[in-house]
Amino acid sequence: MQLTRKGLWSGIIREYRDFLPAISDEAVTTLLEGNTPLVETTNLKHIFGNLRLLLKFEGLNPTGSFKDRGMTMAVSKAREEGSRAVICASTGNTSASAAAYAAKAGMKAYVLVPDGGIALGKLSQAMMHGAMVLQIKGNFDDALNIVKEVTKSYPVKMVNSINPFRIEGQKTGAFEVCEHLGFAPTFHFLPVGNAGNITAYWRGYREYHKQGIISNLPKMMGFQAEGAAPIVLGHPVADPHTVATAIKIGNPASWEGALKAKEESGGVIDLVTDEEIIEAYRLLASMEGVFCEPASAASVAGAIKMKKEGILNDGDTVVCTLTGHGLKDPDTAMNSSPKPTKVPADLKKILKVMGF
Ligand SMILES: *Cc1c(COP(=O)(O)O)cnc(C)c1O
Repeated sequence: MQLTRKGLWSGIIREYRDFLPAISDEAVTTLLEGNTPLVETTNLKHIFGNLRLLLKFEGLNPTGSFKDRGMTMAVSKAREEGSRAVICASTGNTSASAAAYAAKAGMKAYVLVPDGGIALGKLSQAMMHGAMVLQIKGNFDDALNIVKEVTKSYPVKMVNSINPFRIEGQKTGAFEVCEHLGFAPTFHFLPVGNAGNITAYWRGYREYHKQGIISNLPKMMGFQAEGAAPIVLGHPVADPHTVATAIKIGNPASWEGALKAKEESGGVIDLVTDEEIIEAYRLLASMEGVFCEPASAASVAGAIKMKKEGILNDGDTVVCTLTGHGLKDPDTAMNSSPKPTKVPADLKKILKVMGF
């Protein structure tokens, strides 16, 4: 037997070259992001009946979130243009991803994060990858405004999702869903923060449709958290709050893109409560074996809400993007689970607690 495997994954830039802006091969900076699993749910029939519900588990990207799809593009492009440094504002995952890809490219990364409300795992990633982490006394929206000012006059490349290469990279998530299913789903649910990802997925689906690769388009279903739902309310939220820190955004950068995805696809932009988010988060971990972060569970919480409202039907194929890994935010996991049982190192006592 020959010890090689054909067709090893080479990262989204090389895999989807024909669908992405050209980047010179020397500049390509990849950690082999993409090719994440589309996990079929099997234990949620009591909620979803006979529709197919699949989880696009983006937590299995190199830094644990979908941000890597956009970051490989943004950092490679910055490198091609000769930039020596990147900068971003972040609720956590963008900074983790920017820091990792900048390290790989030999570039410096500056990340601005709100002081407080950043999940522990994400902050530790940015620190370990050697970024300069600036905790500012303000929220994400304040941080983004400062980043915009800095990049106007100083030689650092902005890698927030306003950077058009981010959205280009992220659209490959939609390509993979189509390839894994063999067709496009009926509905695609996503959490919505800055709304870059829903914009990107819609672009991906439209491009595959235009090329004749898929024959139908999904309805795009975006879900914000109740305390951070500017698009649903129709105006920016000055002081957003939610347990789902990755979507704690008061003034989304891709607001227009989200509205377009909704209108063109016949979908919705709606909200779910923190309680619904935590319920879906625990449900996925305890019944499907998939541990995502709280923000990610907003997609499934949205699907549960739409099922209850009679929008989803038997025979539909429903995909939910789980945007990040649950290990990113150990504090929320600990706070929403029963505490471990403390027992003496005594067989009899342990058997008793186990119920034998
Ligand atoms: C960034 C992020 C989101 C929000 O994505 P947008 O493109 O900003 O709407 C949701 N979940 C996780 C885990 C994220 O990191």
